[in-house]
Amino acid sequence: MTLGGCDALYDEARDEPAFSNSDEGHAWLDNWCGRCIHDKDQRTETPTGPGCPLVMVALMGRRPIQWLDGPRDENGRYSNADQYHCVEYRHEDDGPAEPQPIPDPPGQLTLAPRTDYEGVRMLTQPTREAVTA
Ligand code: SF4
Repeated sequence: MTLGGCDALYDEARDEPAFSNSDEGHAWLDNWCGRCIHDKDQRTETPTGPGCPLVMVALMGRRPIQWLDGPRDENGRYSNADQYHCVEYRHEDDGPAEPQPIPDPPGQLTLAPRTDYEGVRMLTQPTREAVTA
């Protein structure tokens, strides 16, 4: 899947650092990006591409919106390796890099173009008030 340009990803990112120190950053990047197809071209002895633009956004001091909070305990503590869940993660052995959309059924009319509805869905967690109401 194409993630888009680094400038647009930077503009939409949260204006806060993704990690508080390099240990946190390396633990997370090793666990997620170290197996992801989007950063595969940087894992060769001689890099063959620019790597994942989300990693670049994080290295420039912002937290990509594609990185959702990972599990926290009741005190807000988290594992460094699972601090975030990246919604764009795809394992490097998980098939072709480009999306393979389900084709329209033959002989059917398309009711609405897909292009306006494709992209990253950002779901928000319900508030406690909304759950108990
Ligand atoms: S898509 Fe997410 S998990 Fe994959 S390399 Fe980029 S930041 Fe890492």
